Amino acid sequence: MNWNRKYSPGENWRIKTSMPSEIEKDPALHKYWHKRHSLFHRFDEGIRLDRESWFSVTPEVVARHIAEKHTYDVVLDAFCGAGGNTIQFAKTCNKVIAIDIDPNKIEMAIHNAKVYGVEDKIEFIVGDFFKLAPDLKADMVFLSPPWGGPSYSKAKEYDVESMLRPRPASELMRVARTISPNVELFLPRNTRRDQIVSLARKGVEIEKNYIGRGLVGITAYYF
Ligand code: ADP
Repeated sequence: MNWNRKYSPGENWRIKTSMPSEIEKDPALHKYWHKRHSLFHRFDEGIRLDRESWFSVTPEVVARHIAEKHTYDVVLDAFCGAGGNTIQFAKTCNKVIAIDIDPNKIEMAIHNAKVYGVEDKIEFIVGDFFKLAPDLKADMVFLSPPWGGPSYSKAKEYDVESMLRPRPASELMRVARTISPNVELFLPRNTRRDQIVSLARKGVEIEKNYIGRGLVGITAYYF
């Protein structure tokens, strides 16, 4: 202990965690930077995100909730992006197969999985989900497909047949069901409820995902 140190009731430290310059220059990213620890609570341990991933990664509490709700032996994350969902599935299942068409996304997802110490449970594949599907085996297929960028929220209602990329939801579901009847689909908060229901075969559990009062998205658990 340093006996010479003067203690005062207001002693404190100001630690500035500054924005990286590429984010500072891009005002649309500022709000995502401020909530970086809700996207990944280990953000400061070296999480990597590219511009697209800042907008599209599933916040960690929601990804964890989805991964814990129903657990499976093998989960397929068909559009894994920077790995937000993949990392949480790796904690609750025995194996995750994580696919993305963009090699940079897979590189980031591998890196981010290492930050969370779960990389050994994940098989990473660079490729097009629709082309790979005939060769894939899993107990559940998780789909967080491109919503078409942040503009999805401006529409009054999100139409999964015309706005989802790269194919309409009915086609996406048809392909996913060739792998498993269990399909979990993560959709925008303004998605038409009637469309979510009409994609069901036996049934669907529909869940709104909130962080505080903010509605982040809707998860449809098809069985
Ligand atoms: P959002 O519109 O929700 O922001 P993104 O555009 O980030 O979604 O897309 C989600 C991820 O899906 C991206 O990482 C993208 O590379 C990936 N992706 C797009 N098409 C395919 C595909 N056919 N197969 C696998 N991954 C894909």
